[in-house]
Amino acid sequence: MTILKEKRLRVLISAEEIDARCKELGAQITKDYAGQSVHLVGVLKGCVMFLSDLARQIDLDVSIDFLGLSSYGASQQTSGVVRMTSDLSVPIKDRHVLVVEDIIDTGLTMKYLLDNLRTRLPASVAVCTLLYKPENLRTEVPIEYIGFTIPNEFVIGYGLDYAELYRNLPYIGVVVDNEAE
Ligand code: 5GP
Repeated sequence: MTILKEKRLRVLISAEEIDARCKELGAQITKDYAGQSVHLVGVLKGCVMFLSDLARQIDLDVSIDFLGLSSYGASQQTSGVVRMTSDLSVPIKDRHVLVVEDIIDTGLTMKYLLDNLRTRLPASVAVCTLLYKPENLRTEVPIEYIGFTIPNEFVIGYGLDYAELYRNLPYIGVVVDNEAE
């Protein structure tokens, strides 16, 4: 734990639980989109582990694209200001878009993204998020698929970072102070 010196991690969601949930979500998406192609749009960088595991559980024609959004900078607090740091590589007009996100917290990032994507006239847009923190929600966002609903704690691992580190942990963890327990 290079930069979390005085802290340690508590496992909130294990790798096995994530794996099982990806299988369930993939089966549900396969059923819901039967007979159609799905265009997965991943929000970098937090989505990478989830999107790659989820995509392999979807038994349909799947295409994949990514975009980059930034709302937090290096801080744990949302700035409320969302910025697109990189755009999609292909048009989404007439495609069934499924946005794949790591976590929805205030919802401001997803609201910005959905407003943006809708202007590009996709056939449909839906949202699949690995994690959802309902306590912090500040705007209405439609979420069709939720991996896990979690309490209002800062989580890392399985794509989620703390100052760009810990994305490679195979589980979702919560940072705790040693003194707090
Ligand atoms: P929102 O706009 O919904 O507040 O935040 C969405 C983005 O904030 C996520 O894509 C993620 O990058 C970041 N975020 C929100 N909560 C957490 C958290 O608990 N841990 C980490 N690592 N990032 C978070």
